[in-house]
Amino acid sequence: MPRPRPLQCPFCSTYLIRPVEIRFKAIEITGGICRCGAIYAFDRTGHSLGEIYLDAMTFLCRGDLDMALSLNPEDYEDISFDYDYETNRLDARSSTGRAGKILFMRLKQRLG
Ligand SMILES: [Zn+2]
Repeated sequence: MPRPRPLQCPFCSTYLIRPVEIRFKAIEITGGICRCGAIYAFDRTGHSLGEIYLDAMTFLCRGDLDMALSLNPEDYEDISFDYDYETNRLDARSSTGRAGKILFMRLKQRLG
């Protein structure tokens, strides 16, 4: 089993702050932005990554839903981890025994 480690961008290794509530255009997510341009989104339940996935993609596209829907799988990379909000650590079991998920996404190149 992997050891818990601090929340860190998987693309550039920057240490990141806890996800925060973000309302931007039509998007409501709990997440943040890394200095490398990657975004992250937190799913507290750990069971509905599908629901936050489109919001995360739209956030990645700066609120442009049409652009998000037109992205091809080769246009971006994404990776998700177990994440415990209380300790702000990846691959950790939360104190309640229920780990959330955190999803990272980054465009492979700047589009448009
Ligand atoms: Zn980064």
